This record gives sequence, C-alpha cells and structure tokens, in this order.
Amino acid sequence: MLKRLLNLFTSKDSGKASGHRTSDGAISIPRDQHNISRKNISQAAIKIIKQLEDAGYSAYLVGGGVRDLLLGNHPKDFDVATNAKPEEVKRLFRSARIVGRRFQIVHVRMGREVIEVTTFRGHHEDSSQHASRSEDGMLLRDNVYGTLETDAMRRDFTVNALYYTLKDFSVIDYCKGVEDLKNRTLRMIGDPETRYKEDPVRILRALRFAAKLGFTIDPKTAKPISELGNLLLNVSDARLFEEVLKLFLGGSATATFNLLRDHNLLLHLFPGTDAALKANDELGANLIEQCMINTDKRIRADKTVTPAFIYAALLWPALQQQFKLLSSQMTPAQAWVQAGTNVINQQLTRTAIPKRFLIPMREIWDLQQRLPNRLGLRALRTLDHPRFRAAYDFLLMREAAGEALDGLGVWWTNYQTANDDDRERMVKDLARQGGPKAGANKPRRRRGPRKPKTDTTNSGNE
Ligand code: ATP
Ligand code: MG
Repeated sequence: MLKRLLNLFTSKDSGKASGHRTSDGAISIPRDQHNISRKNISQAAIKIIKQLEDAGYSAYLVGGGVRDLLLGNHPKDFDVATNAKPEEVKRLFRSARIVGRRFQIVHVRMGREVIEVTTFRGHHEDSSQHASRSEDGMLLRDNVYGTLETDAMRRDFTVNALYYTLKDFSVIDYCKGVEDLKNRTLRMIGDPETRYKEDPVRILRALRFAAKLGFTIDPKTAKPISELGNLLLNVSDARLFEEVLKLFLGGSATATFNLLRDHNLLLHLFPGTDAALKANDELGANLIEQCMINTDKRIRADKTVTPAFIYAALLWPALQQQFKLLSSQMTPAQAWVQAGTNVINQQLTRTAIPKRFLIPMREIWDLQQRLPNRLGLRALRTLDHPRFRAAYDFLLMREAAGEALDGLGVWWTNYQTANDDDRERMVKDLARQGGPKAGANKPRRRRGPRKPKTDTTNSGNE
C-alpha cells in the first residue's frame, strides 16, 4: 500500500522525488504525482487557509497532516503555516487565541476543531530581541519571522517540513522530506546536536515519530540522543509531562517504551523505574510492557486511557523497590505509604504529575494493598471504591506480568458477577480456608494509638 502510494510521487529510476525545482531551490510535486486529496483534509483547515489567502497572505498545510496523508494515514490534527503575523491572524478570525510565549502560535477554533496556525519562522543567528538562548544552547524565545524556506529549515524532521498548497494542490519540499518518507527515515533538519540543544523535547519527538511511523532514525540523528538525554532536565516539568503523555498515548506506546530504554532515556524521565529495571526487576519490566500493550490496544479500539493508570504502571517498579527498602524499618502499611510518597517526590523532580492524575494513581496503588484483604465487609467496601475498576485492571495486569497472587484476579472477577449470597459464601470460604488475612474477620482490638491506615491515598502529595 505504502509503496503504491509513494510510487505516485517518486520517479521509478532514481528513487528520488520527482517534480520540479522552484526558484528558491525547493522541489514542487504537482497534484497528479502525489496522493493528497482535498477531501481528506479538515474543512476547518481549508477554510482558514482560504481566508488567509483571500486577505492577501500565503498559507499552507504543514507538519503531521501532510506527512500522514502522504503515508496514507489519518492525520491526528492539521497545522497551518502562514506569513501573517500572530496579531494579523487574530484580527482575521474571531475565535483566534494567541498561545505560547517562547513560540507564539495562534489557535483558531472552527466548530469542534482547533487548528494551529504558526507564522513562518526565520533564522535567529543575528540574535535580535525576539530570540534568545540559554548557556546550553536552548532557545528561550523564538519569535523571529521569515519566509516559507526559512520556516522549513526551522522545523524538526524532514518529513515534518512538507507543505501543501491549495493554490495548485502541489507539495513543496525544501529538505528532501519526500525522499526520507519513501525510505522510511527520520532525519533531523540541520545539525542534530545543535537542534536537540535548541529544544531538548526534539529528543522525545524523534523517538515518538520513529515508533509511531515505524521509521528508522538516521544514524546521525540517533547518535546524540543518549548523550544529550540529560538536557531533558532543562525542559519545564509541565511541558515534559505533556510530551511524556504523547509518547504513550499515540498508539505506539510499546515501541516507544522500548526506544526510550534503548536510548537510556528512562534514566532522565523515570529515574526510580530506571534504577529498578537496571537491577533486573523482571516483573516490573513485564508489568510496564503489559500496560503499554493494553494502552495501544485500547487506543486502536478508540477506548479511553487514563494517564493515572499509565503513570501507576510506569512508576510501579520504583514503588516496589522503595517498599522493599523501607519494609525493614517500619510496618508494611507505613512502608507502602512512605514508598509512594518517596517515589512521587522523586518523580516530581522530572515530570509534573497534575493532581487530577496523581490522586487516582495513588488510589490504584493503595487498592493493590487492599485487594487481598477480603474478609468481613472488606471486599464489599473495596468493590464500592470509585477507583475499584482501575485497580482491578491493574491487578490483572500484575498477574499477566507473572506475579504470583494466589488466584486473586479470578477471585475478584467472580466476586463482581456473584449475587449477594454467593459473595457472602465466597468470603466465608476464604475465612474457613484460613485464607489470606484470615483472622482479620473481626477487626482486632488494638492497644495504644492506632497505626496509620493503609488507605492514605492522598497523603502528603497534594
Ligand atoms: P502529530 O500531530 O501527528 O503528533 P506533528 O508532526 O503534526 O505530529 P505537532 O506537534 O503537531 O507534530 O507539530 C506540528 C509541526 O510543527 C511539526 O510537524 C513540525 O514541523 C513543527 N514542530 C513541532 N514541534 C517542533 C519542535 N520542537 N521543533 C521544531 N519543529 C517543531
Ligand atoms: Mg500535528
């Protein structure tokens, strides 16, 4: 399929992109030599481009939209590049909103769609007041405007720098992106090391696109990745959280996670988990793999996935390691709570975890401790917990990863569908067998002050 599509816009003999050279050195591929059809483009993006053109500006479809259409895939979103300045775009569209400081982008809402409109970027060598760099070479501000050509050079990968124009429906290629698309190669535009230093998030983008598109990363583009991984520390924790989510929510989480490990990037993104996996925590590695496989399946089936669940799995090996460490110093319940707090505190030095995900993540963890305790009314109470379903799924995942839990998953599967009488019987059977936590049937009388409860879901982290 891919071959057939790409043959449409490549000449058979040279393997190079066909089309003709424009006066500024780009290759222009006419409409009959590529497979982009207007009917596959978002109507909102088309309207915005037309409106910009009617106002006298030039505007193009660019980025993942063009790349994915050429590959015969469904684009996730559509981006527009124009020579209109953000303020000019804003004046043209009532629903436009300028976002971002480092890179100003305009979000134009049309119906339910939001199209990102960016102004052509220019070179910033002649460091003006509109651009600045940190000591590490990171671009702190980049609002220097330029031409279509400079805009192409300022994009990240060659396959992301293809433009589609509604003027004559051709594809414009400044960086041999079509050739790389054909060869399934992800190649950084310009000097990879400099470009990663300018914006370390490009490191993650390289792995994300390689995994998602099934492309090989060109050796020169791949080489600096593991060496420069520590630059990710310079990225704000909020942006890093967003980028990490994109790594796992794009339908290729499994492949992405493997690439992260191959390039030693877990060390910088999830240091606790990295340490546990390097200490050969096989169950932990399996659990994450199971989670990634499930996530990819759910996304393919258009089901929701929650970042809390993914983070619960990604940090599970770190939690286990901490728990083991602390268990010799305190009760298991205390060790569990303290381990959770330590792991979260360490993680927050790398990526943010917004509260709306942090709280359910801890609930999933804490319920793992509660699920074996089923005597008396405990099972019923656990079943009633708003996070039960996620915790149960997590439990099944632990078992699928190879953890021996004495049939706990099956027990809970049956318990959920059983009627009241059967549920009572199941619990009594457990007690009779002297099953897990037997004797806990009636709450034990305590002497002295109560120990902290296991269910301290949100303790210390809000
Ligand atoms: P997808 O939307 O499918 O994840 P995309 O390539 O469209 O992929 P976006 O994040 O939507 O990615 O960005 C749109 C385009 O903007 C990219 O294709 C690329 O040309 C450019 N771009 C985005 N982020 C960067 C960056 N950090 N450095 C340079 N160019 C970038
Ligand atoms: Mg996009």
